[in-house]
Amino acid sequence: MSKYWSDITKKIDPYIPGEQPKDKKYIKLNTNENPYPPSEQVIKAIQNAANENLKLYPDPTSERLRDTIADYYSLKKEQVFIGNGSDEILAFSFIGFFNPNEPILIPDITYSFYKVYSNLFNIKYNLISLNNDLSLPIDKFFIPNGGIIFPNPNAPTGRYVPLEFIEEVLNKNKDKVVIVDEAYIDFGGESSVKLIDKYENLLVIQTLSKSRSLAGLRVGFALGQEHLITGLDRIKNSVNSYTTDTLALFGAIEAIKDEEYFQETRRKIIDTRNRVSEELKSIGFNVIDSKTNFVFISHPYIKAEDIFNRLKEKNVLVRYFNQPRIDNFLRVSIGNDEEMNYFIKVIEDIV
Ligand code: PMP
Repeated sequence: MSKYWSDITKKIDPYIPGEQPKDKKYIKLNTNENPYPPSEQVIKAIQNAANENLKLYPDPTSERLRDTIADYYSLKKEQVFIGNGSDEILAFSFIGFFNPNEPILIPDITYSFYKVYSNLFNIKYNLISLNNDLSLPIDKFFIPNGGIIFPNPNAPTGRYVPLEFIEEVLNKNKDKVVIVDEAYIDFGGESSVKLIDKYENLLVIQTLSKSRSLAGLRVGFALGQEHLITGLDRIKNSVNSYTTDTLALFGAIEAIKDEEYFQETRRKIIDTRNRVSEELKSIGFNVIDSKTNFVFISHPYIKAEDIFNRLKEKNVLVRYFNQPRIDNFLRVSIGNDEEMNYFIKVIEDIV
């Protein structure tokens, strides 16, 4: 700690990003990136934008990208907000929709950034304790709250709830904002985007980092009724009008437009995930049913930490959570078939 730090700097508990090793020897199954490259159209658009546009500031209202996303989801441009990755939009949402004196609800096992933002913005939270099978308990979403945020599918469990569940939460919390973080929705879940016109308290947040292979470009978007989007705009324009750079804006448009490539790569990941899940079960693993690009697994006899270390010795990097209730689980991102075949071969030798 430094004497120059503010009280906030002293108090916060920053997020620790997953390992990004420089050494190329690793098969990287630790941060839920997409194993396939982005669409070629994306690369071309970024190259063109780099040649032409960098001396100017980017469009501060991201008009063309918002139009493209609005078209894709049959919404209005005014219902779309663009951010520098969905993490940034999550941060803006905490400031924009939650108040310090009203505790919000978040699942006890979930994306760890939510607690980080709560601490940073001084927003209290109550934890919703997951069921024994790590599913979300609907009844606990009805205790008084100042807003709710959870991922669907949840991370790191991979579990998904259907739209009826989301509607029940929205109906019972009508005067509070319910944020559904759909970072992984494209891997088999049904998006709550179609509920937006019906529920004025719903904000859906998605990202191009996972299903569109663009973790490095940093583009996320939020979808909701206009009054929520203008709230986010107010926050953004009070922090940094140009949070999404020109290359990101041009690349993201093509990523949304290249539907064929999106469907092809997303299908491959779903197929590989389903195959790998079956193979892991057949060698004794407990595999939580996943609708994401990762699987959450445990073994009845071998400690997750030991498996993590032994995989790492064989150059396979997965994620281990040293956290109560899930310290016997590993989260394994779905790579391409060759990577997953190697992973299965190594893990077979461990168990
Ligand atoms: N939400 C969840 C549940 C995530 O797992 C992640 C990725 N770690 C994010 C949001 C953030 O994604 P990004 O900032 O890359 O859009």
